[in-house]
Amino acid sequence: MISASAPGKLNLFFSVGRVRDDGYHDVFSIYQAISLRDTVSIRIASENKLNLTGTLNQKQLAMVPVDESNICFQTAREFFITSGLEPVALEINIEKHIPVAAGLAGGSADAAATLVALQAMFETDLDLSDIGSRIGADVPFSLLGGTAIGSDSGVNLEPIDATEVEYLIAYPNSGISTKQSFHLLDELRADQQEIQLTLPGSDFYEDLRMGECPIQLGQNDLALPALSFMPQLQTLLDLDGFVSGSGPSVYFWEPDATLISQLEESSSSWVLVSGNQPGARLETA
Ligand code: ATP
Repeated sequence: MISASAPGKLNLFFSVGRVRDDGYHDVFSIYQAISLRDTVSIRIASENKLNLTGTLNQKQLAMVPVDESNICFQTAREFFITSGLEPVALEINIEKHIPVAAGLAGGSADAAATLVALQAMFETDLDLSDIGSRIGADVPFSLLGGTAIGSDSGVNLEPIDATEVEYLIAYPNSGISTKQSFHLLDELRADQQEIQLTLPGSDFYEDLRMGECPIQLGQNDLALPALSFMPQLQTLLDLDGFVSGSGPSVYFWEPDATLISQLEESSSSWVLVSGNQPGARLETA
C-alpha cells in the first residue's frame, strides 16, 4: 500500500466576489494549513473499495460517502484521464481526522493525498495542482501547505511567511454545504450592483510573519450565511472566534485556559492545532 497525508486548512481571511460564468466565485483567501491531517492509503485491487477509519465520532464519519462518489475515487478517475494510463480498481483506506463539511477542506485534503499516492504508485510526473484544481478549489492549497494567498477561485496560490501559532477549532457535529453557503451569499447580495473583493491591509501579512494576531483576522464573507444556517454559532463568535471558510468550524487564535473551560459548557467538539504546516506528502513509498 502507498500512503500519503494532507492537511486541512483555515481561512484566516476570506473575501468572496462575483459568481463567474464557470459557476465558481472569485475569491481572495489567506489559507493556512493546520496539523489536522488525513492519511489516504491505496493499493490496486480487483474492485473499487473504500475503508474509513479515524478519530472522528460516528456522526462525523457517517457524513463521508464510502461508495464511488467519494472524492478519492473522483480524483483517481481524473488522475487516470490526465495520465492516459489504463484505469485500475483501487482499494482506498482513509484515516480521517479532519472534521467533515466543516469549512476545513477535509475532502480536498483527501483528494490531495490521493494524488500524491497515485503519482508515487504509477511513477508519473504530472502537475498535481492542475489535476487538483479540476476536483475542487481547495485541493491545490492542500498540496502546497504552509500559508498562502489564494486568488482566482482559490487555485492561484502565492506562499507567504507566517510564524506557527496554535489555534483551537470548535465544530458542531453537523456540517454546512459549501455550495449552499455560496448560494445564500449570492441571494443576500442580489440587490447589489457591484461586488468588490475586499483585500487585507499590509499589516495583516506583517502580523502573520511576526506571529501576532492581525486586526482583520477572520474577516469572512461566508460568516453571515454560516450564521443563518446555524444561529448557535453566535455563542462561539461572541467568545472571539472566527468562521473558517463556509463553516461551521470556528477557530480561536492562541486559546487560553478560560476559553477552554467556556467551551466545555458548549455542545461543540473542539481540537487544538498548530498552523503553517506542510502540504500533502508521501508517508510510505
Ligand atoms: P471546503 O472547506 O473545501 O469547502 P468542507 O471542509 O466544508 O469543504 P468536506 O469535509 O470537504 O467539506 O466535505 C464536503 C462533502 O463532501 C461532505 O459532506 C461529503 O458528503 C463529501 N465527501 C466526499 N468525499 C469525502 C471525503 N473523502 N471526506 C469528506 N467528505 C467527503
